[in-house]
Amino acid sequence: MADPKGFLNHGREVAKSRPVDVRLKDWNEVYVPGSLLPIISKQASRCMDCGIPFCHNGCPLGNLIPEWNDYAYREDWAAASERLHATNNFPEFTGRLCPAPCEAACVLGINQPPVTIKNVEVSIIDKAWDTGDVAPQIPERLSGKTVAVIGSGPAGLAAAQQLTRAGHTVAVYERADRVGGLLRYGIPEFKMEKRHINRRIEQMRAEGTRFRTGIEIGRDLKATDLKKRYDAVVIAAGATTARDLPVPGRELKGIYQAMEYLPLANKVQEGDYVTAPITAEGKHVVVIGGGDTGADCVGTAHRQGAASVTQLEIMPRPGDERTAGQPWPTFPMLYKVTSAHEEGGERVYSVSTTHFEGDEDGNVQWLHLTEVEFIDGKLTPKPGTERKIPAQLVTLAMGFTGTDRENGLVDQFGLELDERGNIARDADFQTNVPGVFVAGDAGRGQSLIVWAIAEGRSAARGTDRFLTGTSDLPAPIRPTDRALMV
Ligand SMILES: Cc1cc2nc3c(=O)[nH]c(=O)nc-3n(C[C@H](O)[C@H](O)[C@H](O)COP(=O)(O)OP(=O)(O)OC[C@H]3O[C@@H](n4cnc5c(N)ncnc54)[C@H](O)[C@@H]3O)c2cc1C
Ligand code: SF4
Repeated sequence: MADPKGFLNHGREVAKSRPVDVRLKDWNEVYVPGSLLPIISKQASRCMDCGIPFCHNGCPLGNLIPEWNDYAYREDWAAASERLHATNNFPEFTGRLCPAPCEAACVLGINQPPVTIKNVEVSIIDKAWDTGDVAPQIPERLSGKTVAVIGSGPAGLAAAQQLTRAGHTVAVYERADRVGGLLRYGIPEFKMEKRHINRRIEQMRAEGTRFRTGIEIGRDLKATDLKKRYDAVVIAAGATTARDLPVPGRELKGIYQAMEYLPLANKVQEGDYVTAPITAEGKHVVVIGGGDTGADCVGTAHRQGAASVTQLEIMPRPGDERTAGQPWPTFPMLYKVTSAHEEGGERVYSVSTTHFEGDEDGNVQWLHLTEVEFIDGKLTPKPGTERKIPAQLVTLAMGFTGTDRENGLVDQFGLELDERGNIARDADFQTNVPGVFVAGDAGRGQSLIVWAIAEGRSAARGTDRFLTGTSDLPAPIRPTDRALMV
């Protein structure tokens, strides 16, 4: 156990953010570099090493949180890193981006602010990279079996790393020009600088994983041809079909899906453009959708110099405290102030867009909305609340409906879908086609990075068993697991 009195002697302290006016002038991560390490030993000492550590259950990866809290408290960074990597291939991604269901489940959270688990995680992994403790793990012998992974998001990368380390020869196929999936082109630089992906990819290349970018399976290479070339296939193609808003005026210029808008800003940071082809500069921006994708649009628009930013959400504003229906240790739906929200803009709840209005050149100028309320369990417009707000750039961030059906991948493999439209799989993450597995958002539906990594690890075990008859790889979850997330 860390310090038996740690939680009595120290309050919760989290990473410090750079002042808003400073960070809006650049795209770097919002946190003050190096501000965590001086406080992290004390923060880790607050862990009570619970007999039943509920944080384990909260984390889809089953992270060994009390063990690495103890090592972090003792500043034994090498041992902490070893324990962290025992369950998580990419703690630098989750340590920056995870909503931390482990903290919602922390026992200390019953009557005190919980342990800063996510900050401890990111401190351990950043230190490990600095001290050279993250080295390639090259397999001792090769199995002679080959695996193709489709998609290079967190699920595909986790599956590929596990299978490569098990001795299989793995090639990752990615339709985009760079590896990383939503980590690369969805999540903005200010939430996670892309250098963190690049150095992981270097480690994976050194271990033997091969990457083939700019190839879309289904379009550029038939799924059936891919299957003939490899002993097994893992589909980790994400849930990239975005939900649309079919209201009058949707066809006007200036209305984009969030995933048409965000990648261009990330491409500026990669050096592909000087300025983004779609920019918020000088415009009144409206973001439709109150979730994380919407928040990423808000932060991006502010950095591009928007005249104003308004985020609309159809549901009522969430509460500040847990409700009876969301008791500890579940992950509650609470009102969140993300770093992007600290930077400005207005959030409007319980509103629905009725139509868009444009100018004579077909550019969107106004968004018409109405307030809504629940009547008999149905969201219903409130008469007399119609109004319009200026909107010269609109981004739609209303979620994703499933994996891409247009490129032929699903049909060429002959894959069955489940009742939610995701690729169906059995307990081993195998689809209805023998030797074809599925992991991440493609099988689970739109979710989180931590689930994608857990799925990639679990599908790797299923694939390894298919190839060799047995497996020593861990499988942290089953396809149906929802853990403590509500
Ligand atoms: C804007 C945004 C912000 C987010 N922020 C967070 C966050 O802060 N924290 C969090 O936990 N989660 C966040 N999420 C969710 C998280 O990013 C996803 O749940 C996660 O990336 C899913 O991982 P994946 O590997 O299954 O799929 P993806 O990351 O979507 O990767 C799938 C990859 O497959 C490729 N692909 C698809 N079809 C083919 C094909 N036929 N051939 C070749 N390649 C193909 C795609 O180009 C893509 O690169 C966010 C999502 C979005 C959209
Ligand atoms: S639940 Fe909280 S206090 Fe208990 S072991 Fe996990 S992190 Fe430590």
